[in-house]
Amino acid sequence: MMAWRRIFGFIPVPVVYTDRLPEGVGGRAIGPLVQIRPKYRERGDEGLHQHELDHVKQFWRLWLVSFVALLWPLAGPEALDLASQDALAYAAALALLPHTLLYHLARPYRLYAEAHAYKVQTRYPDGLGGALTPAKAAMRLTAARYRLDLTFGEALEAIKRA
Ligand SMILES: [Zn+2]
Repeated sequence: MMAWRRIFGFIPVPVVYTDRLPEGVGGRAIGPLVQIRPKYRERGDEGLHQHELDHVKQFWRLWLVSFVALLWPLAGPEALDLASQDALAYAAALALLPHTLLYHLARPYRLYAEAHAYKVQTRYPDGLGGALTPAKAAMRLTAARYRLDLTFGEALEAIKRA
């Protein structure tokens, strides 16, 4: 099944509930789309939802910055007169890439993205009567799949600073 969420008050985000996720993964964001295991919807894990929605916010923020930054080299001095429709379209399309590229290729960006998403997650109910604690979030951030190579202390510090 699928549901719609909204971020920044106006951008709709499709949330697909599926178990077709890698082993041990409860949810993930793919660009503007979120996938979450059905059991976390059923138990009302708002923290996990907000974690993934935070990644989608990161995606759209970087889209906007990239779109504006790309308009100038692509459209030159005509960037703002909207006559150059092609340049607008190319900039809009190319701007979809930076978040995903940086997340996979740049450790500092990946660290920022995950530490911030985990910090957000700790502020919302986990559906079990509490919320993910910063310590548990830090434990998760040290997982091999994030390729961050952090000690527990470093992970905790990153979440607090995020
Ligand atoms: Zn994450």
